[in-house]
Amino acid sequence: MPVILTLAEHKDGKLRRASLETISEARRLATALNAEVESVIIGSGDDALVDEAGAHGAKRVHVFADAALATYATEPYARAFAQVIASVKPAAVLVPFTSMGKDLAPRVAARVGAGLASDCVAFEVEAGRLKARRPMYAGKAYATVQWDGEPQMATLRPNVFALDAPDASRKAEKVAATVDATARAKVTATHASGGGKVELGEAQIVVSGGRGLKGPEHFHLVQELAEALGAAVGASRAIVDAGWVDHQLQVGQTGKTVSPNLYVAVGLSGAIQHLAGMSSSRYIVAINKDADAPIFKVANYGILGDVFEVVPKLTEAAKAYLQSRG
Ligand SMILES: Cc1cc2nc3c(=O)[nH]c(=O)nc-3n(C[C@H](O)[C@H](O)[C@H](O)COP(=O)(O)OP(=O)(O)OC[C@H]3O[C@@H](n4cnc5c(N)ncnc54)[C@H](O)[C@@H]3O)c2cc1C
Repeated sequence: MPVILTLAEHKDGKLRRASLETISEARRLATALNAEVESVIIGSGDDALVDEAGAHGAKRVHVFADAALATYATEPYARAFAQVIASVKPAAVLVPFTSMGKDLAPRVAARVGAGLASDCVAFEVEAGRLKARRPMYAGKAYATVQWDGEPQMATLRPNVFALDAPDASRKAEKVAATVDATARAKVTATHASGGGKVELGEAQIVVSGGRGLKGPEHFHLVQELAEALGAAVGASRAIVDAGWVDHQLQVGQTGKTVSPNLYVAVGLSGAIQHLAGMSSSRYIVAINKDADAPIFKVANYGILGDVFEVVPKLTEAAKAYLQSRG
């Protein structure tokens, strides 16, 4: 039976949401292709991770439990993933388009001689083969791509593909695997960035601020609204370049790609390079005092007004609403 292989990334003893979305999509495609889903977990031998992958639809999980792989390092991870691809010979390989996936997938594709479609937002099956839809020209256009040969390899934009509910009755077989864990470059220390409490790339709600805030001393308006909504904080490049906030918060072509359920744009014009990183959000709310601001073209709800008047009221309303619901 053909196999769709996914990379299952984990953090703090759980599979990351983007990995579960990837397994969910793999399962949907596997149904159409009469295939089976298998996953790869690197850097932890925790059975709970295997069970989680199984409950979401993986039939088999290849586990590299070596503690030397606990921290991501490109070289041994690429070696491990390519090793599984060589032995399983999957019809398709799906990897979440996370920071790690963006680094790892091209290297693995090069190693195994596969074509890679990156940042995909939809798939369809035609005559037993995959077709992928992916943005081009910073999201100005979408291309439909197909692969010559196999594996058909793709990275999947987080928060775009539906996450199916787990089914604990579905069990995955654990396949222990080993690989040479040596790396010429390895991580010696990691430092948490100064972002919000919720991780931007995986957040369900994002509140982003732009130059309409006038200065860094007003960025707290964005942070307070984000806090009230349980959202991650984002920013335009203009205010990152101006040194108001850390680059980690930048959304857009040269920043992070986000695809939350709700994106609140505060005093942002909606330049094409910014839209490239957030236009696939499900609902976009824009607050801007210029009725001709391009952000209103993509917004589902537009608030024409001054951020200094609107945002504090929104924050109060969000707090009151959430308090009323206990
Ligand atoms: C190669 C390249 C890559 C780039 N990559 C990115 C990227 O990744 N991400 C990104 O964001 N940008 C990127 N940019 C920059 C992008 O072109 C814009 O310059 C930037 O997004 C503008 O940021 P902004 O919306 O905060 O500022 P502005 O464009 O200055 O917009 C400010 C908005 O605030 C509104 N406003 C002003 N005062 C108020 C008020 N009191 N109340 C309400 N609204 C108000 C204004 O009407 C205006 O629409 C890139 C540019 C290039 C050339």
